[in-house]
Amino acid sequence: MPEEQSGGMVRVGRAASADSELVRVRRDGKIGPAPVASRAELAEHTARVARATETVDPPRRFEIKRRNDNELILFVGDRRESWIVYPPRSQYEFLERPSARTVLVEHHPWEPYTTPVMHEVDAAQGCREHGLGCGASAAIQAGVHAGWNPFA
Ligand SMILES: [Zn+2]
Repeated sequence: MPEEQSGGMVRVGRAASADSELVRVRRDGKIGPAPVASRAELAEHTARVARATETVDPPRRFEIKRRNDNELILFVGDRRESWIVYPPRSQYEFLERPSARTVLVEHHPWEPYTTPVMHEVDAAQGCREHGLGCGASAAIQAGVHAGWNPFA
């Protein structure tokens, strides 16, 4: 791919790191402004930021790995992540629920050095932090469709 020049800026690093060329992700996880050289690149940049920040995700394909009264473990292979649903009846002692009816859903990206995130989900409102568009709500729905009760 030929290098383009615009306004005296030389774009570098495409071969080494296509992502960091368009979006700068700072150490705290925030996405900073990226230099853009063309309208097409700006559109691509905008779409990339939208994908990175949106909470309503396209449907996941959940694969059930384990189900019992304590937990439901789901894999989403194409996203390289797992979701673990802990229903209110779960006997695990490490779980801390804000209410006796709250469903806890743990999100595990498979990439190294990532931290699992616990989502607190209510049946009516969905995830407390991300609403019904959260992957945690989708994971719970996958359990329901499989005949597993996440709410008891
Ligand atoms: Zn959530």
